[in-house]
Amino acid sequence: MCGIVGYVGPQAAVDVVVEGLRRLEYRGYDSAGVAIVADSAIHLAKKAGKISNLDKVLAEDPLPRSGLGLGHTRWATHGGPNDVNAHPHLSADSRMALVHNGIIENYLTLRAELDVAGITPTSETDTEIVAHLLGLELATGRSLAEAMRTVCTRLHGAFTLVAVDRTDPNHVVAARRNSPLVVGVGKGENFVASDVAAFIEHTREAIELG
Ligand code: GLU
Repeated sequence: MCGIVGYVGPQAAVDVVVEGLRRLEYRGYDSAGVAIVADSAIHLAKKAGKISNLDKVLAEDPLPRSGLGLGHTRWATHGGPNDVNAHPHLSADSRMALVHNGIIENYLTLRAELDVAGITPTSETDTEIVAHLLGLELATGRSLAEAMRTVCTRLHGAFTLVAVDRTDPNHVVAARRNSPLVVGVGKGENFVASDVAAFIEHTREAIELG
């Protein structure tokens, strides 16, 4: 289980998120990625290896400016440490992006459901299965928060999940079960992270979710 950061506010989300991930580097990881919502689309960059590899990708192909974003440093449990398995993962229609710390123990059962829905995952991760399930819930008209509540009841294991929806530029949605998640309350901006170290330079007001 490695690092997660989510941000909504007036600052450039990519900078806040990548800086937050850097502060979680001490936990160890094998790949890193970030996604933002801009112009009703998800834009993402992810790369195996150090955050400096992600920095290079972002320098060569910068993401548009946005105040909403999330990021992840991965410690692979399902699938090797490569660019495809790195987080964030997208739903089949690319409407939402998801990052995840932990393990979804029943992901093979859930994956079988995706076959029925005609969805073929592109990665080997347990995480991508959850992204597709969230996408299917959104397609029924649910909000991302409602979709997250519904999908979490179906997941076995310990996890922190953080997601954004390209149709909602104002919210980051997060959930946890037996895995850390802290909310940082700022002035006109808010944070979520797996550890307060990710946002301590921006706010010292933190809420540990039960
Ligand atoms: N199980 C997920 C994966 O292998 C998340 C691992 C993590 O906690 O970084 O991608």
